[in-house]
Amino acid sequence: MELINTLPQPLITVTLFIFGLSIGSFANVCIYRLPKKESVVSPVSYCTACLVPIRPLDNIPIISYLVLRGRCRDCNNNISVIYPVIEIITALLLLAGFFKFGLTFDFLVYFVLAPTLVIITVVDIKHQIIPDVITLPGLALGLAAGSYSIGYVNSFMGFLLGCGLFYLLAILSNGGMGGGDIKYIAAAGAFVGWQKVLLIIFIGAVLGTFVGLFQIGFQKKTRKNIIPFGPLLSVATLITLFYGNLLIKLYIDNL
Ligand SMILES: [Zn+2]
Repeated sequence: MELINTLPQPLITVTLFIFGLSIGSFANVCIYRLPKKESVVSPVSYCTACLVPIRPLDNIPIISYLVLRGRCRDCNNNISVIYPVIEIITALLLLAGFFKFGLTFDFLVYFVLAPTLVIITVVDIKHQIIPDVITLPGLALGLAAGSYSIGYVNSFMGFLLGCGLFYLLAILSNGGMGGGDIKYIAAAGAFVGWQKVLLIIFIGAVLGTFVGLFQIGFQKKTRKNIIPFGPLLSVATLITLFYGNLLIKLYIDNL
């Protein structure tokens, strides 16, 4: 802790950014493999077109993508630009969290949560699911971390409130909301407590309204088009982690 405080800020920033890129690279592996129920540790990364294992030197975040000009060395197939974009987003999120929380328990939790939210967002957009293999361990971790940081009563209330409200919504919306969303909000509630889980739901609803209006207005999509909740809830969770205390204080002060 003391040692890190003596290091120059730019050095910490660059190191954490590079480390964040490699976490983002692992997030890509999770995004591709978790929905297929494949192991995320073995085999090593392979080209999704020709299945040839990627050489370690070709697997460096961003740099390899630029050197190979977005193509597989073996089959010349295009590698989606989504991969380096996810690496950069993950690294920036981790960096932002470091500057927000410093080296605290909150940052440790955030360090696990932020890449997970990136994974959930992309997986839900691509497959319209939030896998149990993320939400169920997330629930256990949420209750453990929440008990430590906000107390077990608040953590459990957050879990119950999130779970209960979304379960009710699932019944009312008649299939508009899936089991993955319920497990997600239950886990998020366990992490942040009852006040902030309400905030997540509120921000998610506001974001959903904007996205919905945008879709209807600009993309000529019908009202029936389902917006996946995962990305909305993930963004809402990130906003709550960063600005939750501030927003709740503003709300209480203006009552
Ligand atoms: Zn290939």
